[in-house]
Amino acid sequence: MSAFVGKYADELIKTAKYLATPGKGILAADESTATGTIGKRLAVANVENTESNRRAFRELLFTAPGASAYLSGVILYEETLYQKTSDGKSFVDVLAAAGLVPGIKADTGLVTIAGAVDGETATEGLDLLGARCAKYYADGVRFAKWRAVLKISPAAGLPSELAVRQNAEGLARYAAICQENGLVPILEPEILTGGDHDIKNCAAVTERVLAAVYKSLNDHKVLLEGTLLKPNMVGAEVIAEYTVAALRRTVPPAVPGIMFLSGGQSDEEATQNLNAMNKLDVVKPWTLSFSFGRGLQQSPVKKWAGKKENVAAAQATFLARCKANAEATLGLYTG
Ligand code: 13P
Repeated sequence: MSAFVGKYADELIKTAKYLATPGKGILAADESTATGTIGKRLAVANVENTESNRRAFRELLFTAPGASAYLSGVILYEETLYQKTSDGKSFVDVLAAAGLVPGIKADTGLVTIAGAVDGETATEGLDLLGARCAKYYADGVRFAKWRAVLKISPAAGLPSELAVRQNAEGLARYAAICQENGLVPILEPEILTGGDHDIKNCAAVTERVLAAVYKSLNDHKVLLEGTLLKPNMVGAEVIAEYTVAALRRTVPPAVPGIMFLSGGQSDEEATQNLNAMNKLDVVKPWTLSFSFGRGLQQSPVKKWAGKKENVAAAQATFLARCKANAEATLGLYTG
């Protein structure tokens, strides 16, 4: 067997399988403070981007009664990993006690690839990643996310071969380092769906990128059973068929779960598309689930609007989104 067989192999397989439990998904609450993503999300509800507001919103999500029936894990930003509830319990302990595996955003953001055209990017964060992963593991984290971004433009020849190769290699190096340190890597090669192309083009690029990613993972001896994939849906129209076709052509059955990002779709659209994929009558050897950021948080943040008196209502909205998506992982969402 050529894959990684270090001391964490059995645990990695178990964690990945648990995260991909049918009927459950992942909450991505790892919006970066450094790059300002969390600021954008809070701004939608006119909430100021302060440490106390970030903490309060995440407490609202993590303590929503009953959410653990629909979630298997939560991805945190490093700041959040070390924050506490208002009554002094660490977020990690609160999540673990509810059966939610704590995860972390392990990359540190995007940089333009020197020598690439049209601002194509690579993802940073490999420096000292092993030491960071070892510390995260000691602090209770069991999985980690790495987001690579590729852009499509048939006119400009994007994504370039250089960008596809660099991002596949970056994902594979990160995945191998995570596994050496006991963290299940979630691989997120996000292909931005906006731009001057049609759905066939997006499907073709998605296949090309995923094929490159799985080749790199094999080169780096990554244990696929201890990984998860976090892809884009191939958008914007007949999403389910094209997305599942691209995945069936590229993602080996050894991967236990494919946990989609919501990518700026409306909450309802993301749920409907996930449900449609799970209803398709073709062989799907992996769990098809969610790892939504906006798809789970858009409605609750608006309902909350930074006010204590709205917390219970915002938690109810969050719970409704979690339940709808959990049903969609089984193809049982009826709206
Ligand atoms: P969205 O679901 O909002 O696309 O975010 C998921 C994510 O984690 C992006 O890295």
